[in-house]
Amino acid sequence: MNDTIKKPQISERRKFFTNIAHNAGLGVMGGLLWAGYADKAKGSTLTLRPPGALKEEDFLSACIKCGLCAEACVNRPSNISKLTGKPRPGTLKMAKAKDDVTIGTPFFVAADIPCYMCEDIPCVPVCPTGALDLASLTNKNNELDFRLMDMGIAVVDPNSCIAFWGIQCDACYRACPLMDEAIKLEYDRNERTGKHAFLKPIIVMDICTGCGLCEKACVTEKPAIFIQPREIALGKPGDHYVKGWDSKDEQRAVSQEAKDVTTKTERSEKGAADYLNEGVDFE
Ligand code: SF4
Ligand code: SF4
Ligand code: SF4
Repeated sequence: MNDTIKKPQISERRKFFTNIAHNAGLGVMGGLLWAGYADKAKGSTLTLRPPGALKEEDFLSACIKCGLCAEACVNRPSNISKLTGKPRPGTLKMAKAKDDVTIGTPFFVAADIPCYMCEDIPCVPVCPTGALDLASLTNKNNELDFRLMDMGIAVVDPNSCIAFWGIQCDACYRACPLMDEAIKLEYDRNERTGKHAFLKPIIVMDICTGCGLCEKACVTEKPAIFIQPREIALGKPGDHYVKGWDSKDEQRAVSQEAKDVTTKTERSEKGAADYLNEGVDFE
């Protein structure tokens, strides 16, 4: 890690916890209120973490709640208002008791302030513990690469997305920093009118970073495109399904077969049906 990186200030951390205790009236309510906090501390599975965050469980073990990532986010040059010369609210927030997120940990709400996918990703190198993993955002040329960010994935609700109704809207598509890569427009004939086309936003799962700029740009009352953690949004077919048309996947199946171990016992000589019917008299 760079020597010039500011280390977390113990006094600041202490101040943070003192504030929590003070606000909760901990001295008065004692254990009862703290139990309430412990419940909140579980947080929501829908939490969006900063770029490069480790898997949730590892992240929670590694993050020391120092707030350096959020500080770097709010103070990045691109966030300083040209009008006032002061920083605007940053993307990353440190969770308070009212948030449905483990207290003191960094998160963001895409519909409020999305991640702007800064090229230099300033929130990550300042993390003193590796809770935000620099290596996961470093490409083959040893450069930080915002394309490697993976904060979540955009999900489109076709029932509320007006582009699926046939109304022309490409707000999310235009807001995407990876336009035509992470989000594409699929042309489809509108059978109802016979002359118009649907222009449906389609997410390319491997490329979308979950930055949330599309969610922020969505014109519907409640965004029809929104970000969710991948573990929540995506299904999992299971290892026993193999894509026969994909040589890599076929190879996976072959390697698995080679690993399969068959246990032989005395009973192995009989078939399963014989063994199960042992001792049963068939008239
Ligand atoms: S990459 Fe996103 S989270 Fe990090 S500093 Fe930039 S806007 Fe903030
Ligand atoms: S993620 Fe890293 S920088 Fe951010 S609060 Fe946790 S330990 Fe500090
Ligand atoms: S979250 Fe939206 S804006 Fe960000 S990369 Fe994915 S599709 Fe593009």
